[in-house]
Amino acid sequence: MKIQTPYIFDIKRYSINDGPGIRITIFFKGCPLHCLWCHNPEGITPEREKMYAINKCIGCGYCIDKCENEALSKTKDGILTSKENCIICGKCTDVCPSKAMEMSGRRWTKAELMKEIKKETLLIDSSEGGVTFCGGEPLLYPEFLFDMLRECGEEDIHRAVDTTLFASWDVIEKIATETDLFLVDLKVMDDAKHKKYTGVSNRLILENIKKLSGHGSRFLIRIPLIEGINADKENLIESADFLASLPCKPEVINLLPYHDIAKGKHKRLGSEYNSGRVAMSEPSEDTKKMALEIFAERGLEVVLGG
Ligand code: SF4
Ligand code: SF4
Repeated sequence: MKIQTPYIFDIKRYSINDGPGIRITIFFKGCPLHCLWCHNPEGITPEREKMYAINKCIGCGYCIDKCENEALSKTKDGILTSKENCIICGKCTDVCPSKAMEMSGRRWTKAELMKEIKKETLLIDSSEGGVTFCGGEPLLYPEFLFDMLRECGEEDIHRAVDTTLFASWDVIEKIATETDLFLVDLKVMDDAKHKKYTGVSNRLILENIKKLSGHGSRFLIRIPLIEGINADKENLIESADFLASLPCKPEVINLLPYHDIAKGKHKRLGSEYNSGRVAMSEPSEDTKKMALEIFAERGLEVVLGG
């Protein structure tokens, strides 16, 4: 069944890394990819989830008393949730005094979201910023996204969509009519590796990057730079050659050095980080330098971070 209304798992204000200026970034839950290094693991499943942070837990036991399904128990590792018994009703989180237990994901109506976005218009206008829709994968909800983009456009708010482009071209083409800038992820060029590390083939993504480039849409490319995954010379050259061959070049390529901040989030979700046990690490200074050179040599605008 197609889900039309996303759960939103975060709304980030004063964001300076999701497009030009100061932005408000809306995070949609649900993603067709399962990247091993994903920084937002709470954005993978489209459903609501419960998160638990033991360091915030004061051990009061209110959550256990509240649960009607006997899903919670006190252990030496804090409060444990039985996945079999928990129906994700959220009642335990309502009574948690320290926010150690929280729900991730809330449905917002379009009107509610617009109200949140409009609260930021002063800052957005003064910084030439805007709104960015990301996730997860916002293209999973084309109708909701389209309506939000159109309404922001009517308010003269700059609109960016942060996406994997793992979607049908029909969807992308329609969304492009109401998008000022796409932030497109590029991960690994080798299809077998892409499948292994993200769960899906990259063919559709590469095809869509080519189409988007030929379509006249403004876009930039974001590449996570991960030793052990994609920071080898061969992949960097293949990525740079591909981007340099596009009919219209990306405005900039952001190389984003890997870090493992998602570990803590996985712990709070009760899920496993890097389930594939792939050796991933931050790129060395030499690797970063090599990567910058490879893209720059092909006439591409490239920066570290962003
Ligand atoms: S979300 Fe509901 S079912 Fe799950 S542990 Fe909390 S109160 Fe119990
Ligand atoms: S209600 Fe919150 S603080 Fe109290 S035991 Fe449960 S998770 Fe910990």
